[in-house]
Amino acid sequence: MSVSGSPTSPLRVAIIGSGPAAFYAAEHLLKQTDVPVQVDMIERLPTPYGLVRGGVAPDHQKIKSVIRIYEGIAKHSAFRFFGNLELGRDLGVEDLPAYFHQIVFATGAQTDRHIGVPGEDLRGIHSATEFVAWYNGHPDFRDRTFDLSAERAAIVGVGNVAIDVARILLLPHSERVITDMAPYALDALSASQVREVSMLGRRGPAQAAFTNLEIKELGPRIDGDVVVTPEDVELDPLSAAEVEAGGRIVKEKVEILRHYSTAAPSGKPGRLFVRFLVSPVEFLGDERGRVRAVRLERNVLVRDEGGGAACRGTGRIEELPVELVFRSVGYKGVPLAGVPFDERRGVIPNDHGRVLEAAGGAPVRGLYATGWIKRGPTGVIGTNKADSIETAKLMLADAAQGLSLEPTSPAPQAFETFARGRQPRLVTFEDWLALDRIEIERGAPLSRPRVKFTTVEDMLAALAD
Ligand code: NAP
Repeated sequence: MSVSGSPTSPLRVAIIGSGPAAFYAAEHLLKQTDVPVQVDMIERLPTPYGLVRGGVAPDHQKIKSVIRIYEGIAKHSAFRFFGNLELGRDLGVEDLPAYFHQIVFATGAQTDRHIGVPGEDLRGIHSATEFVAWYNGHPDFRDRTFDLSAERAAIVGVGNVAIDVARILLLPHSERVITDMAPYALDALSASQVREVSMLGRRGPAQAAFTNLEIKELGPRIDGDVVVTPEDVELDPLSAAEVEAGGRIVKEKVEILRHYSTAAPSGKPGRLFVRFLVSPVEFLGDERGRVRAVRLERNVLVRDEGGGAACRGTGRIEELPVELVFRSVGYKGVPLAGVPFDERRGVIPNDHGRVLEAAGGAPVRGLYATGWIKRGPTGVIGTNKADSIETAKLMLADAAQGLSLEPTSPAPQAFETFARGRQPRLVTFEDWLALDRIEIERGAPLSRPRVKFTTVEDMLAALAD
């Protein structure tokens, strides 16, 4: 078996997806000098950057500025971007071994989890992920509608996505207009009647999934008060022990929540109720099939098998009137045809990034995974760097041992010709940079970071001009 990757025949790598994990994998592969590598990044949209463009909140521009680093990676002479090329539509996984030694899946977690209670399909109940993609102008979600004439909304889950949704709903409009939120979302939110938002945590404050920075910035930023009841921040013995053992960060989280619980009302119009130890057990609808309330069961914490804190219902039920609901209980990966998939975990089964035939099974030669499709939907953008370095190192080690695919057409031009045959409207990185410039130019007179294109047709039309 020959070693893959030499100056005359570089290691040809296809990366599927163009979010942070994809770029960090490309960065590591292109930065090292032991093995000559060429990277082709395949992205189904004409725009790169995955959740940085379509997931990170539009009022978190500082986080979004990480794209300038990715831009630097894309400038490497051995990097090519194949935008508007969709695996499963324009080409299949089975087409790739003819052109590449290695294939890396960095496809993220494209759908969301369900709660699994009656009434979850009522009108007015949405996933947070679709709302986030909608206000961020993702072409697949731009036509979704949300009834923002509702006054009371609930968000199930207390992670950072729940916080983003709560903040965007209650942000003063003057703050929304200076973001790169999609224009249609800006219009819809300007007419929003939502005044009360309840974020519902099934466990206690010590177990809340949000991070301290995110919960702390809510109070000053929203056009309303963060309301936490003092009883909700009283710690049961299990939580007290967790806080004690958890160190500074958990202690600070509980302190922030306690601070909210004692704060005097500011007079601002909105209310964000952050609730703990409650689980939705049923959504109730009106005669038109629209959600009108959620039945919540009070929980207590019990020790789970791993020694952590799990919630158990007490049978005590309350009814919370709401006309709009977002479930924000985590993202979930989707399977790709021809690639092993672990349905239970929603990830590609893998061993530190080497794709396996099934969980615990043998490695599949030449296939790798990184990011959320590798480890599940956890961590912040930077978490993907270490994750992708781990995968990239294994790829280089496998290449050194000749454990790669054996492409029959490894010349870069061969894949480009094939890809153009399947998708004549390929979008290159140069094309994306042109779109980027237009978006930024459109935003400048409005003091907005950019005005996004939100349909693929508009993007392609702008490139054809
Ligand atoms: P997450 O952090 O995993 O939070 C999910 C939330 O849903 C948790 O509160 C969880 O409670 C709850 N939940 C799960 N199943 C439930 C059920 N059946 N009923 C009620 N509640 C349920 O997920 P996420 O908010 O989607 O965020 C995904 C990742 O992106 C996270 O790592 C997050 O930090 C990151 N992110 C970061 C930022 C930022 O840095 N600003 C912004 C957005 C997202 P339990 O804890 O009890 O399971």
